[in-house]
Amino acid sequence: MKEKVKCLIIGSGPAGYTAAIYTSRANLSPVLYEGMQPGGQLTITTEVENFPGYPDGVSGFDMMEELKKQALRFGTDVRNGVATACDLSKTPYKVTIDGKKEIETDVLIICTGAAAKFLGLPDEQKYMGRGVSACATCDGFFYRKKVVAVVGGGDSACEEALYLAGLASKVYLIVRKNYLRASQIMQDRVLCHPKIEVLFNTNTAGLFGGEFVEGAHLIRFKGEANEERRDIAVDGFFLAIGHQPNSDLFKHFIDTDENGYIKTLWGTAKTNLPGVFAAGDVADSNYRQAVVAAGSGCIAAIEAEKYLNTTGTYRRAGGLEAVGGAAPFIIGAAHLIK
Ligand code: NDP
Repeated sequence: MKEKVKCLIIGSGPAGYTAAIYTSRANLSPVLYEGMQPGGQLTITTEVENFPGYPDGVSGFDMMEELKKQALRFGTDVRNGVATACDLSKTPYKVTIDGKKEIETDVLIICTGAAAKFLGLPDEQKYMGRGVSACATCDGFFYRKKVVAVVGGGDSACEEALYLAGLASKVYLIVRKNYLRASQIMQDRVLCHPKIEVLFNTNTAGLFGGEFVEGAHLIRFKGEANEERRDIAVDGFFLAIGHQPNSDLFKHFIDTDENGYIKTLWGTAKTNLPGVFAAGDVADSNYRQAVVAAGSGCIAAIEAEKYLNTTGTYRRAGGLEAVGGAAPFIIGAAHLIK
């Protein structure tokens, strides 16, 4: 089964839907595939209070529904389906959906997001949104004057612990090794913070509670002669053991950094391939915020329109004839790629 489209968007988080709104309004007739997690990571966040325009906050799920409605209103063809393969070796680019349908597209906007890494405990899923979170900036506010734990020993974990220490009454930082991996300045801040207690050599064996998390089962010196077990009472359990950008499918064709984030030309959404753009968390190892993702989706859409205009594969209603094929498009010096 084959289909040819002008603009294909993969992913349905804030980046994907914003790209959809802008490309629809520019008459690019975008087709958007929602991917594995329709609505993206925000749908697992309880409430979003830091997205501009929602003075009373909004549930992540509702916000994504609104974004979807907005994209539909302008004519985006929103479809269920997961991109399972691609061939970006030449234009038009080919993306296979659900292993069976092949879409050919003039421009591709990749908004596949990133997934927080989890420990793999069954309790993490059980308490997701009920005490378990992978985003202190998103959910920290709900733990004002409460006790929370953060897992991880890198810069993210230290940053999250410090952020939470500004809100919570106490923060445990659970570190599996006997040292922090974070930069020295972050270590210093964490180690001298009066509200943060660092539990070195400690792993989490499980969580407990009723409807919400009430505590964590910990193991110190796991597997060693002096192994100790203890429980701590916490209201919130934050994972900060890294994120995994959902870029595996495209890595063979698109430049990524050492952690798998798609490289984009600084200040743009351009990848190393002409007509292929990346927006949102799949290309952002730094900010990982919904509003930033939405902004980059907008940038990708505007660039997609410019690209199609430049290459002549796009014509506005009553405008130029389409001539097909991609004009030479060279991203210059490698140092411009972040
Ligand atoms: P990192 O990979 O640097 O750190 C992950 C941490 O999680 C490590 O301490 C690791 O432990 C721990 N961890 C991993 N898996 C498990 C597990 N299964 N159980 C328990 N602990 C686990 O990820 P970050 O997200 O912290 O940082 C990613 C990159 O982004 C880094 O380069 C970092 O410097 C950068 N960054 C920079 C910031 C800044 O400059 N402001 C802010 C945030 C990130 P172990 O050490 O034992 O492997």
